[in-house]
Amino acid sequence: MKQKKEVLQLIQKRIQEFNFRDVISGKTRASGGKTMFVCPFHKEREPSFVVYPDGSWHCFGCRKHGNDIIDFLKHKMGISRSKALIQFIKTISRDIKHELKKRTEKNIS
Ligand SMILES: [Zn+2]
Repeated sequence: MKQKKEVLQLIQKRIQEFNFRDVISGKTRASGGKTMFVCPFHKEREPSFVVYPDGSWHCFGCRKHGNDIIDFLKHKMGISRSKALIQFIKTISRDIKHELKKRTEKNIS
């Protein structure tokens, strides 16, 4: 099924390009492609939670780390990775549907 593959690609893209500013508030600092946040997993004033350009992250304060936003949600919500993935997909499903509709319309015209 072509559309299923397309949906998976869109989800993958959303995961890779996810902006952690949407889920972590407070002070940030940018340095060489990386963004540093105040860690949401332990108490601190100065940012030591680093998000790398590929979407992986590491906290130099509490040593928590993960490969992507899904791992982040997993730790934040205390749920399994697959449950975190489902949660993430739920939040972006409307966007994905919209995107697919746009593409279909483009293909027709
Ligand atoms: Zn931390």
